[in-house]
Amino acid sequence: MKLFEFQGKELFSRAGIAVPRSRLARITNPDGVPLADGEGSLQERLEAAARELADQSSLGTPRLVVKAQLDMGGRGKAGLITIAGGDGSSRDDLAREVSQAARQMVAGDYTIPAILLEEAVAFNQELYLSISVDAPGGGYVLLASAEGGVDIETLAAERPEAIQRIYIDPLRGLLPYQTRGLAYNLGLQGELVRAFGDLAARLYSLFLENDAELAEINPLFVRSDGGGLVAGDAKVIIDDNSLHRHPEFPLLREQYDSDAAFEAAREGIPYLQFDGAISLMCAGAGLATTVFDLVNYEGGTVANYLEFGGPNYNKAQRAMELCLQNDSRVILIVTFGTIARADVMAKGVVEAVKNLNPDRPIVTCLRGTNEEEADATLRAAGLEPLYNTEEAVRKAVALAGGKA
Ligand code: GDP
Ligand code: MN
Repeated sequence: MKLFEFQGKELFSRAGIAVPRSRLARITNPDGVPLADGEGSLQERLEAAARELADQSSLGTPRLVVKAQLDMGGRGKAGLITIAGGDGSSRDDLAREVSQAARQMVAGDYTIPAILLEEAVAFNQELYLSISVDAPGGGYVLLASAEGGVDIETLAAERPEAIQRIYIDPLRGLLPYQTRGLAYNLGLQGELVRAFGDLAARLYSLFLENDAELAEINPLFVRSDGGGLVAGDAKVIIDDNSLHRHPEFPLLREQYDSDAAFEAAREGIPYLQFDGAISLMCAGAGLATTVFDLVNYEGGTVANYLEFGGPNYNKAQRAMELCLQNDSRVILIVTFGTIARADVMAKGVVEAVKNLNPDRPIVTCLRGTNEEEADATLRAAGLEPLYNTEEAVRKAVALAGGKA
């Protein structure tokens, strides 16, 4: 589960990681329903919040950052982060600017559950810091860069040498010498070296305690007033498999991109929302990912990634219902059953087709244990069994109106 910036910053704050002073103004409630008091009131709440932050500031009238809360990187470029106030502007100007900025964000194409209003940080430098799972290494990896503020994938592609890595042994933990060495490599000096080590240790504890897959701070500001480090952004992803022991992170509609994605999460069916033409209904994460790549390779586009293998192999009907919630033009079913038997999946698919009477073509390629029986079941129901993944993908792409 991806947490919003404001939720991540709440975790940071509780863990003793400095974050800017802030106020949150909700637009929808956590179930995704717009607040009954409407947009006029959003403006009033934001203006009041801007005044409160100004009152608490030691800077006279501070600058404030207006930040749309949604699951998306690069918000700055998309106009979803704006800095309000500045030289000589009055409190009234500031409040007006804040509500004006929010109005523009809300009027755009994005679904924004809340606006975070923060006191702007004056900084000398933007660092990057993250901790994530290092599956191949059987541990965790801490990444840091003195060139934060930009998209880390871009930095990794263009200047990989600007990213420092530390392997964290889960049994030893993050050791002080590691972060000290890293801080020096980042060019930090004096008190900042200690502050960096302290912050990294806190981030690591937070990462473990919350069963996170990723805890990222980008940018991590070095304040220009000598006040040390402050987290300018927060990206925290909680491992879905651990949510049962974290009642503090309930599954809520606002955490997902679509109704289907939300329902899938509640069912425990791995699902990702896209906006293309082909719904994938596959079994096995590796196979599903391969099919995803093949669809793109063949010039098609994916509407949704859905994986109903493993413990979900008898959930064909639920899986198809989720696919049908998309505006896709084809449902492409590719499975390779070993323990999850092909014949069971075929029966499930046929049953689902009978019950749901789908309004779009279904392409089936179900192989593995008992595939002869699976084929017979599909044929009896008027579905054509295919035996080759590439062939199935090409057929789906052609049916979707992509490359023939
Ligand atoms: P993201 O692009 O969606 O990850 O949003 P971020 O929260 O990382 O903000 C993007 C950029 O906005 C930062 O790298 C900064 O350049 C700028 N920004 C965000 N907060 C502040 C702030 O408090 N002060 C200043 N001066 N710039 C900020
Ligand atoms: Mn960021």
